[in-house]
Amino acid sequence: MSKRLWGYQPRNERPEPSWELHPDTHAIRAGLARSGFGETSEALYLNSGFTYSSAEQAESSFADETDHYVYGRFANPTISMFEQRLAAIEGAEFCVGTGSGMSAMFASVACLVKAGDRIVASASMFSSCYVVLMEILPKWGVTTELVQGNDPEVWAKALSLPTKAVFLETPSNPMLEVVDIRMVSDLAHKVGATVIVDNVMASPVLQKPLEHGADVVMYSATKHIDGQGRVLAGAILGSESYIKEQLNPFIRHTGPSLSPFNAWVLVKSLETMSMRVKRMNNSAQLIAEFLESRPEIKSVRYPGLKSHPGYQTAQRQMDGGGSTIGIEFAGKQNDTFKFMNALRIIDISNNLGDSKSLITHPASSTHRRLSPEVQAEMGITGSVLRLSVGLEHPEDLLRDIEQAL
Ligand SMILES: *Cc1c(COP(=O)(O)O)cnc(C)c1O
Repeated sequence: MSKRLWGYQPRNERPEPSWELHPDTHAIRAGLARSGFGETSEALYLNSGFTYSSAEQAESSFADETDHYVYGRFANPTISMFEQRLAAIEGAEFCVGTGSGMSAMFASVACLVKAGDRIVASASMFSSCYVVLMEILPKWGVTTELVQGNDPEVWAKALSLPTKAVFLETPSNPMLEVVDIRMVSDLAHKVGATVIVDNVMASPVLQKPLEHGADVVMYSATKHIDGQGRVLAGAILGSESYIKEQLNPFIRHTGPSLSPFNAWVLVKSLETMSMRVKRMNNSAQLIAEFLESRPEIKSVRYPGLKSHPGYQTAQRQMDGGGSTIGIEFAGKQNDTFKFMNALRIIDISNNLGDSKSLITHPASSTHRRLSPEVQAEMGITGSVLRLSVGLEHPEDLLRDIEQAL
């Protein structure tokens, strides 16, 4: 064996470009750390531990005095590539990958609060986020006030009391409520609250909450970032001080770490994310317009439609309505089930943001954990379906929907 097979000799030592790169270029290049072999594609470092060439190097690595990797719970080269790439796309100082979207959501909030603290959150949200805020954190003395809708006066009232964190999901899952990130962030910062946005539904392609005043962004990377239904993962993005001083001490010791294999899948997914999300977004706009014209449908919830109550806000903070449509049927729950069963391409599933178009009945699946009253507050009834538009040709999707109606 040649000596070159031993040891790490970074091979991307060419000077960096002198100009600011487009996020689509970051999606292909950012974070790339080639090994001594000079491989083209990102390497998968499927390992939990690391070695040191001396006791002194081990000591300085543990003291955080060097960039030497220490342990998979803290960092790993493949995970770092994913984190750096997503941070570059998002325009965030730092990113931390986690094992799921929910571990990202929990850590992003839990690292900030202690008993007696108060959180303010938008009322419409993913059901597990609701359970964390309304059932789990209260057991530890942290309470959450929910705010309905997008009215500045209502938000100002909720944010007139001392508040540690604001948690926003916009657009929300499944009813696509839109909240004005700038308006809420400005109010939140007056009381010193940290604004966390669950940006899963828009994805980093269609909405950049940090540009609109938010402090922290979290993702379920399971959705558009993987986008092909393979891995479970999450990510948290924010400033150096939030990540280093608040989040890292919490994450390192509670261990919601991302698997290097999943990080490797995601780093490759990021390369195509922008193309995928734009195509899904364009098809969703067509389908939402078609559904709005149909008598079987009572209302269509899609931020790219003028009929959406948050249309103006969405125009300001999003680059498209997204890939998910909320559909309220004119008839009963029975009709929604008949429609789902009559589809020939679109799958019945509880996921979203996938290359395959998926349809969900939230009241009986993803959101059944919530009481009927809470469901009603979020606009979820038996007649509501959530359609996640995938990458199939839009004409086939329209035809599938038309024949099922
Ligand atoms: C799916 C989802 C989550 C949770 O992510 P997991 O990867 O399933 O843990 C959180 N928020 C929103 C809006 C989601 O759609």
